[in-house]
Amino acid sequence: MSQHFATKAIHVGSEPDPVTGAVVAPISLATTYAQASLGNMAGVEDPNSMGKGYEYQRTGNPTRGAFERAMAAVENGKYAIAFSSGLGATTSIMMTLSSGDHVICIDDVYGGTQRMFRRVMEGQFGVKFTFMDLSDADAIVAAIRPETKMVWMESPTNPTLKVSDVRMVSDAVKKQANRPDITIVMDNTFATCYLQNPLDLGADIAFHSVTKYIGGHSDVVMGVLCLNDDQLWDKLKFQQNSAGAVPAPFDCYMALRGLKTLHVRMEAAMANATAIANFLESSPELVEKTFYPGSASHPNAAIVKKQMRGGGAMITFFVRGGIKEAGDFLRNLKVFTLAESLGAVESLAECPAVMTHASVPAEERRELGISDNLIRLSVGIEHIDDLLADIKQALNIAVKGGQ
Ligand SMILES: *Cc1c(COP(=O)(O)O)cnc(C)c1O
Repeated sequence: MSQHFATKAIHVGSEPDPVTGAVVAPISLATTYAQASLGNMAGVEDPNSMGKGYEYQRTGNPTRGAFERAMAAVENGKYAIAFSSGLGATTSIMMTLSSGDHVICIDDVYGGTQRMFRRVMEGQFGVKFTFMDLSDADAIVAAIRPETKMVWMESPTNPTLKVSDVRMVSDAVKKQANRPDITIVMDNTFATCYLQNPLDLGADIAFHSVTKYIGGHSDVVMGVLCLNDDQLWDKLKFQQNSAGAVPAPFDCYMALRGLKTLHVRMEAAMANATAIANFLESSPELVEKTFYPGSASHPNAAIVKKQMRGGGAMITFFVRGGIKEAGDFLRNLKVFTLAESLGAVESLAECPAVMTHASVPAEERRELGISDNLIRLSVGIEHIDDLLADIKQALNIAVKGGQ
């Protein structure tokens, strides 16, 4: 019988050590491994090596393997491959492409992903990109070219929390356009594997910046890819070993430790986010508009219901006013920290137009709806009364001058 998320997150990869009985995967620092005889690799019987054994730390490592097996299990995949950062994982995916290949990418993709696609892959290496909304099957089919190799999805997106229908996109590409050869990558960072499993919805690769919810404590930078296809796994393992964006064993230990409490943290953060979204939506004198995927008023509420098990803990809203009010709100927060990044136990707030998305050209920011009064909240797991009181007092000062 297949186990539930929490059981897999806690036990897969962390089976008691057969020699010492240790219930926690050790941080294994060796860079090289003794070979019994020529070509006779050590560690092939360790399940965390996935039958590949160990020879050199860039190629494979027991602590990394423990995290990868756990991630594969919770994403309902056969394989996972961990990287030194989310963008390190993106780089290795991009290295499977060649000059002249074409990629279709969601228009409001994560800023760092967009920077790599436009400036590095297109600017330096001649890979072509079409950035577009992915809500219309016919438009997706029309955008596919003979040289299209990949569709890059992200859902919910950042910072507007747009939700795309993964099954619809997969069917449009693989069935309607009859192009099963096109690889669908789905950035699952915001929802996490606890709330959404892209491989079950027809994606080929589930992508995570582990730096966010999986790590969960703002103290590790890492990325991971989860997948089912044997050939794609071999290709990505080859690219990882060739490009070398591998995570340190200590980071893999931290990520595995983070994963074990993901379900508890996400439930707590989601309960807080629901209460905060309710307050924001019922305060039109302070807030122009609120986007929360868990809210019935979200434009993609029907897709959320279909493919996610909850709305997550990211909220964006437009504070009444402009850049001055946004700045006043952020400056007066006391529990929320004014900072980039997301997904940790502490609550964070930021202004995408001048922080995370400042590198997106102003014209494009306007098209994507990222105006100066847009605030992004990463809701943590502090006490809800303190979070709500903090938001209320800072909004009152920003919009009503403290009355
Ligand atoms: C942070 C982030 C990334 C990049 O991951 P890093 O670990 O910072 O390299 C990619 N996608 C999304 C949605 C992110 O939030």
